[in-house]
Order: sequence, then structure tokens, then C-alpha cells
Amino acid sequence: MSENIYDLIIIGAGPAGLTAGIYASRRNLKNLIISKDIGGQASTTNYVENYPGYDKVNGYELMQKFQKQAEGFGSLFKYEEVADVTKDKNQYVIKTVSGNEYQSLALILTFGKTPSNLNVPGEKEFTGKGVAYCATCDGPLFRNKIVAVIGGGNAALESSEYLSGLAQKVYLIHRRAEFRGDDEVLLQRVKSLKNVEIILNSAVSKISGEKFVKAITIEDVNTKEPKELAVDGIFIEIGHTVDATPIKKIVQVNKNNEIIIDADCQTSAPGIFAAGDVTNIKFKQIVVSAGEGAKAALTAYKYIQQIKGGKEPIFDWGKK
Ligand code: NDP
Repeated sequence: MSENIYDLIIIGAGPAGLTAGIYASRRNLKNLIISKDIGGQASTTNYVENYPGYDKVNGYELMQKFQKQAEGFGSLFKYEEVADVTKDKNQYVIKTVSGNEYQSLALILTFGKTPSNLNVPGEKEFTGKGVAYCATCDGPLFRNKIVAVIGGGNAALESSEYLSGLAQKVYLIHRRAEFRGDDEVLLQRVKSLKNVEIILNSAVSKISGEKFVKAITIEDVNTKEPKELAVDGIFIEIGHTVDATPIKKIVQVNKNNEIIIDADCQTSAPGIFAAGDVTNIKFKQIVVSAGEGAKAALTAYKYIQQIKGGKEPIFDWGKK
């Protein structure tokens, strides 16, 4: 096989992609993981408290362990962004933004989700200049400063708690009267923090500043009355969406752009499998994504064996 031709290419290196790499390597598949980063969303989580075998583990550290394990078994890595995926006879061709081309017999899509934007004036302009999407990554830059967290889910609650330990003051701004986040213990902890001010029923209308962010304008959703708050940083934690641009033309997606898979992680295209948050599975959890990644790799292995005319693998030992 030539240098850039693989049995399997995995796009994305979160819990699903890295686990797929471990399982593919252990089945001796020549596999390449192409990803912009390691760990995806999971690596931006401060503490993971529900991954079996760990009482409490930092998300970044957990993902480093996944990567080390995949690499140790033989997965290769390229840190690039995928621009396009096409099919040429029996092979998939992956072109990257940096101009490289890779080919494989099968693909596993595990590129997860990307943070949603608020789409208000000033957001784009001040991204990286006070506007951030990851509290654990960028929080330390705002030590003793005033920050705002936008959102009402568990991510916004978790980020507010984390930032309260670093910043002088945290405004937690949510557009509804009630939080969507269902972690009741976390919510009570956030409510009890002295330097967190919760502002409900308020939507962000503008982000302003000079070189860096200086203020955020919010509007009461009922009275429409605007209010400006002086802040140094703004953390946007309003959920994540799938960027399906490179793959939409080759696999079927649902209305949320999530890739539709069956119970074996098979997509609508033969030889293309998918796992984790990028798919239409209901539960977006690290442990679920890892399990789905393993399933995708085993299904891909079966497909590759069929193409190569190898021995049919037995997965269900009860049905030998
Ligand atoms: P969610 O989808 O749960 O919440 C997104 C929040 O952002 C909602 O409150 C939503 O408001 C708000 N929002 C969405 N769009 C806008 C907008 N344009 N302007 C203002 N507000 C907006 O996303 P999360 O990222 O919080 O969580 C994703 C998943 O990860 C969830 O399943 C969550 O449970 C899980 N998670 C679990 C954690 C834990 O268990 N500790 C920690 C972090 C995440 P509205 O309520 O009005 O829809």
C-alpha cells in the first residue's frame, strides 16, 4: 500500500474517533486519524465525573490517555482540517484544507460538533479578543476580571462555576426564566456562589469594545429594556452544532445535520461509518461516544475484510 493509502481513515479525534482508532489498530487495520485537535469537546471539560473507572478526571487528561492508547496500538495522526470527501471507484479520497490528499477503503466520521454562535453584532469582531467558547481553555486569561457567561444549559452552569474560581465576578445570562441544565446539584452550587450574578429573561443584543471587549448589551425579553454591563470577557455556551459541509453530499443527515446511522454505526453510504456526537444517537456522553466508536471500527473491519476477501469476523460468540 502506498504511503497515503489506508484501510481506514477516521475523521475526528474525540472519544469516538480515538476509540475507533484503538479498535481498528487492534484488528491490524492500517488506520489514519485526521483531526484539527485531540479530544474535541471532551477535552474542554474541566472535570468528568461520570466516566467509569475514574472518580473525577480532567477532560483534557482523559483524552490524552485515549490518544496515547490509540497511538500505542498503531493509529497514525494528521492534524489537518478536512475540506472535501469524494469516492473514486473503490476508494474514498479525503482532501484537506492544507492541500493534502489521503485515500482509504473505508471511513469513520467522528468529527463531533462545533460551538454555536450568538450571531450578534460584535461577536465575530471580538472572537479571540474577549469573546470565547471554552471556559477551561481560555478562563485563565480572565483571572480577577469581570466576565459574562451566556446560556442556560449544563455547559453554561459548569463554565460559570469554573470561572467563579478565577474571575472577580461572573454574570450568568440566560434568555429564559428557568435553566435548561438538568444537573440540579450543579445548579444549586452555582446559585450559592457569591461572585456569580444570575440574570434571567435576558438576551444579548450587542458586544462592544475597542481592541478588546469592554461591554455587553442585554435586553429584557419581556420589557425590551436594554442594559449595558462592563465586562472583560464573554463566554458563549449556547450549545453545539454539526458542521456537515464536507460530507452532506455523500451521507444522509437529519434536520439537525446529524449523520443518520443504524445500530451498527453504518451510514447511508457503503464503507462510511459514523459515531459519537456527529450522529443522530440520542445520548451525547463521553462513555457513549467511546462505545459507538468501538462499534463503528468493528463494523468497518467487517466491511474491509469483505472487500479484501479475508476471513469473515465473528463478533457474536454465541452465534459461532
Ligand atoms: P444545551 O443545548 O443543553 O443548552 C444550550 C443553552 O443555550 C440553552 O439554555 C439555550 O436556551 C441557550 N441558547 C441556545 N441558543 C441561544 C441563543 N442564540 N441565544 C441565547 N441562548 C441560547 O447545550 P449545552 O452545551 O449546555 O449542553 C450540551 C449537552 O451536554 C447537554 O446534553 C448537557 O446535558 C451535556 N452536558 C452535561 C454536563 C454535565 O452533566 N455536567 C456538562 C456540560 C454539558 P433555551 O433554554 O432557551 O433553549
